[in-house]
Amino acid sequence: LALGLSPIRNLNEALEKSKSAGLEKKIIKIYENISKYYEKTGDFRLALEYYKSFHIKQSELEASNLSMRLEILSVEFNFYKEKSENMKFKKLSEKLERDIEAANKTLEKMKVQNQSLLKESLYDELTNIYNRRGLEVNYRDFVNLDEPVMGTLYIIDIDRFKSYNDTWGHVKGDECLIKISEALKKVAPSGIVARFGGEEFVVITRKSKLEDAKMFAEALRDSIEKMAIPADKTSTKVVTISIGGYLGKMYKDSLTFFIEKADKELYIAKENGRNCMSVREEEN
Ligand code: GH3
Ligand code: MG
Ligand code: MG
Repeated sequence: LALGLSPIRNLNEALEKSKSAGLEKKIIKIYENISKYYEKTGDFRLALEYYKSFHIKQSELEASNLSMRLEILSVEFNFYKEKSENMKFKKLSEKLERDIEAANKTLEKMKVQNQSLLKESLYDELTNIYNRRGLEVNYRDFVNLDEPVMGTLYIIDIDRFKSYNDTWGHVKGDECLIKISEALKKVAPSGIVARFGGEEFVVITRKSKLEDAKMFAEALRDSIEKMAIPADKTSTKVVTISIGGYLGKMYKDSLTFFIEKADKELYIAKENGRNCMSVREEEN
């Protein structure tokens, strides 16, 4: 130990300085040296005291190092844990995405199916024009505003159609219904044309003046007469229609009202001898 004349004084001084500077490793080293110094000088009691201090300090340092290592490990552990959970989450969300995609595809298929079902449900099987449901849906589209729209609703009924069936049979009767549907559609390309049931049809147009509405009814009637479908076998009579029309402000919920009003006009047309029309305008 080359510590000059007073090694213990120097060692103690170094110890104080190291303590105030918090140099743990240095403190341990100095304790060890002091212990060795007293061992050399034969002061075994002090040597043992300092050795104890050396040993405690060293254990403390080791423990604190260990706890630091553990802390690092725990941080690392959490990092890897999170990472693995992210992996799990990623896999889960990928599966979820696939499931959603599959569900969307099914939904799309169902939409297409529903659309074709809806389409089927809106059209009359025989004539391929709108049925009653189709009429209702299209009427709502026709109005579709909170404000009423001016329009005319016509009910068209084939004259003496029972007799036509009796003469030509039901198959010919069906063919006649198809021909008349097509003719009505031709005359009212921008209107709603529907089979209301049996040999009755409904046509809705935007005719807003009585004169126009009457002219249009005449055009419908004329087109059927001009088709010259023989009505019976013993005369030159042809298939004709009678028309009842009602013109007025149409609201979303006034379809039934218009049908009832037009039906009254149809009755008048039938009373007047058939193959004619009767159109009335709503009174203010
Ligand atoms: P009107 O001039 O008073 O209207 O006399 P009409 O004979 O046309 O009236 P009625 O209501 O007595 O008879 C309607 C006939 O329409 C009865 C039925 O045989 C016929 N009919 C209704 N639906 C169909 C159908 O889908 N196919 C055929 N072939 N005939 C039908
Ligand atoms: Mg009828
Ligand atoms: Mg009839």
